[in-house]
Amino acid sequence: TKWVYSFGDGAAEGRSSDRDLLGGKGANLAEMCSLGLPVPPGFTITTAACNWFYANGRAYPATLEADVRAALDTVGAITGRRFGDPEKLLLVSVRSGARASMPGMMDTVLNLGLNDVTVEALAADAGDARFAYDSYRRFITMYSDVVLGLDHEVFEELLEDEKGRLGYELDTEFTAPQWQDVIKLYKAKVEEELGRAFPQDPHEQLWGAIGAVFQSWMNHRAITYRRLHDIPESWGTAVNVQAMVFGNMGETSATGVAFTRNPSTGEKMLYGEFLVNAQGEDVVAGIRTPQNITEAARIAAGSDKPSLQKLMPEAFNTFVAISNRLEQHYRDMQDLEFTIERGKLWMLQTRSGKRTAKAALKIAAEMAGEGLISKEEAICRIDPSALDQLLHPTIDPKAQREVIAVGLPASPGAATGEIVFSSDEAEELKSAGRKVILVRIETSPEDIHGMHASEGILTTRGGMTSHAAVVARGMGKPCVSGAGSLRVDYRAGTLITMGHTFRKGDVITIDGSNGQVLKGSVPMLQPELSGDFAAIMEWADAARRMKVRTNAETPADARMARSFGAEGIGLCRTEHMFFDGDRIVAMREMILADTEKDRRTALAKLLPMQRSDFIELFEIMAGLPVTIRLLDPPLHEFLPKTEEEIAEVAAAMNVSADKLRQRTEALHEFNPMLGHRGCRLAVSYPEIAEMQARAIFEAAVEAGKKTGSPVVPEIMVPLVGLMKELDYVKARIDQVAQSVMRETGVNIDYLVGTMIELPRAAIRAHVIAEAAEFFSFGTNDLTQTTFGISRDDAASFLETYRQKGIIEQDPFVSLDVDGVGELVKIAAEKGRATRPEIKLGICGEHGGDPASIHFCESVGLDYVSCSPFRVPIARLAAAQSAV
Ligand code: ADP
Ligand code: MG
Ligand code: MG
Repeated sequence: TKWVYSFGDGAAEGRSSDRDLLGGKGANLAEMCSLGLPVPPGFTITTAACNWFYANGRAYPATLEADVRAALDTVGAITGRRFGDPEKLLLVSVRSGARASMPGMMDTVLNLGLNDVTVEALAADAGDARFAYDSYRRFITMYSDVVLGLDHEVFEELLEDEKGRLGYELDTEFTAPQWQDVIKLYKAKVEEELGRAFPQDPHEQLWGAIGAVFQSWMNHRAITYRRLHDIPESWGTAVNVQAMVFGNMGETSATGVAFTRNPSTGEKMLYGEFLVNAQGEDVVAGIRTPQNITEAARIAAGSDKPSLQKLMPEAFNTFVAISNRLEQHYRDMQDLEFTIERGKLWMLQTRSGKRTAKAALKIAAEMAGEGLISKEEAICRIDPSALDQLLHPTIDPKAQREVIAVGLPASPGAATGEIVFSSDEAEELKSAGRKVILVRIETSPEDIHGMHASEGILTTRGGMTSHAAVVARGMGKPCVSGAGSLRVDYRAGTLITMGHTFRKGDVITIDGSNGQVLKGSVPMLQPELSGDFAAIMEWADAARRMKVRTNAETPADARMARSFGAEGIGLCRTEHMFFDGDRIVAMREMILADTEKDRRTALAKLLPMQRSDFIELFEIMAGLPVTIRLLDPPLHEFLPKTEEEIAEVAAAMNVSADKLRQRTEALHEFNPMLGHRGCRLAVSYPEIAEMQARAIFEAAVEAGKKTGSPVVPEIMVPLVGLMKELDYVKARIDQVAQSVMRETGVNIDYLVGTMIELPRAAIRAHVIAEAAEFFSFGTNDLTQTTFGISRDDAASFLETYRQKGIIEQDPFVSLDVDGVGELVKIAAEKGRATRPEIKLGICGEHGGDPASIHFCESVGLDYVSCSPFRVPIARLAAAQSAV
């Protein structure tokens, strides 16, 4: 087996496509060499060697030592030096490098090969003793820290003491003899702490460092990082050993980092920083204030420290040429590391640069414009989930933040408003034209109106899938959930944190993108949806096959979704229309009625309200399909709970509060999610379905007259498990359709279909398709019923499952392709077998999740439906899965 790959002098044994074997850093060093760029020669020990190391009780492959020796000789031949030879000193760096860049791995060791003898050789060779001792003290610190396990703070303390004694501010003020004193102190410290001298043998140093890189693959930090980012242990890490070049050889030397485009705005201009007379990570470590690379950036930053362009124009020009070349070659924005040794530029790393969502859009759109990448590639360069950040106002990055608590980033965007503690207060203040933040311990379906009325929602309990989080994301409102350090006292009307007490009316700001809660109001930036965003979305629309609809029931949501590009409504949850204002009272009357006659009386009050809702929705969605789901939730969700509510309904119904209380108790269910809900309601009380159907058809006629382009309503029967359930409800709907057509003399086109949200329905889909003209996969309930897990109770154990590696992802967030997905696939196939033209869609939360959308494409669904703010995400994800 070939364990070692060399690079240097315009050639390399590896290339950028060998990332799996050589790690990202090694593969790109090899590629840069082959491109003829100035890269110090070196070699990469493969990830396979790392895996061998662990498979064999932490031993090295037999031939590795000889291979390393040979590769070192090659480096020596190129540089005219020899490792360990004081006459022709060769020093190296030892750098780890996994496939994906991974914080938590071993830090780089620089200047390896120095000892008490070779340091003198380095001084003579460079004609600069200060430089040589500076390099040695750095080496002792790095090596002791990452290989010998002696914290670098120990050395930093010693250095600070010396600085204090000498009255120095900066490391660069030390003279050669003063560094010699520091080195003595360091070495004594190592002996004192470890009971043995700092290793002097260069080969021992080298193998110590190689072993430390391999060992670091299994350190605690690395394991945690891998788990959080789904990186398999089997990847292993490579080790790069590379000849040193020195940025700390005085005023003509420097080290720096740069991006080929601005990583926060995407603007096409070289963007980076450097330090004169410095080494390695000094730039990012904040030891001194770094300087700008270009004059333009220096002027923009108002800095009075000279740019690289001004200071070392020759090296700068070479660097500009190389960075352009690398961007062209990799066809992506690059993140570069370089060092200048006595005026000569050396490249030490290149990789695709991390960037903000905004920058990603700009870079992809501009690169497609430049002809560097195709439009399809541009689409695929954007992480769909990252779009979410762009659709909401955000806190100005320059703003001061006074953080009073941190919770979960439950729904993105930032919002400012006065504190209110109840949904009624929220509504009241909103109607007085004030902006509020609804602060609750947790929220429930009864808070919907308050959530609507507020700018943002803050809860002290609950996770990312809590009621507040899910509903807020659906509404596109910023939400911070589970801010456990806050104490809410409803009775006192206070919010207490870190000794501060906030009261109703005090202004706070929440940042749903990072979970922060801030005191007062903070300057915001408004979203920018034209320009690059619009261009990329247009390309995505041209590339995708699946349609994208929205889940919406309010006019505001429907309008918003249409402006985000929704192509119809995939799920209108009619029950949400019954929570507001007077409606809840009429709804309660209907539910609590003893007889069909009383129910019909209450339903008659609801009919006009429901009809006017639909007219408005149909007008907004003119010409597009609208799927309306009949009443679905367990009735108990509508029941009056407080004595006050009971009294109110009792008065409206003209019955005693006692009687009403009894009736409420009779409706109690042990397991409401599996209880009297969905089509079971329509079977027990067909008059409810009839009222809803009538409202839909009458609205369709009226909206058709107004807009001239009628919608085709798609009436959806929820929670069907048996064909006969659907048959029964469909017959009622058809009957109402006939009546309305007769009464109005207008012909109505409509479809009746069902949700597939029970395993039985999926398995019997070929039979159900005889009556159903469309299927919409309700994957929230289908996940609950397939797993037998109630979503509302899942938070307490799913996280444990994840930590213990039993599940990888919350199946309520990303579709469980193997199980729930299999049922979707079966139902799609069976449905099509019976009715080839059957329309298939998905309307669960998964409809806005990119991974789930890829699955939907793979089984050939016709559309996905998601909450308004996820529509752009779905458009992009659908395009990515189609190209
Ligand atoms: P990381 O993966 O944390 O970026 P690197 O292996 O890239 O670590 O090393 C960090 C820094 O060390 C580099 O940016 C570079 O400045 C410096 N460095 C690494 N190898 C050499 C070398 N052979 N010569 C000079 N500097 C080096
Ligand atoms: Mg690096
Ligand atoms: Mg459902």
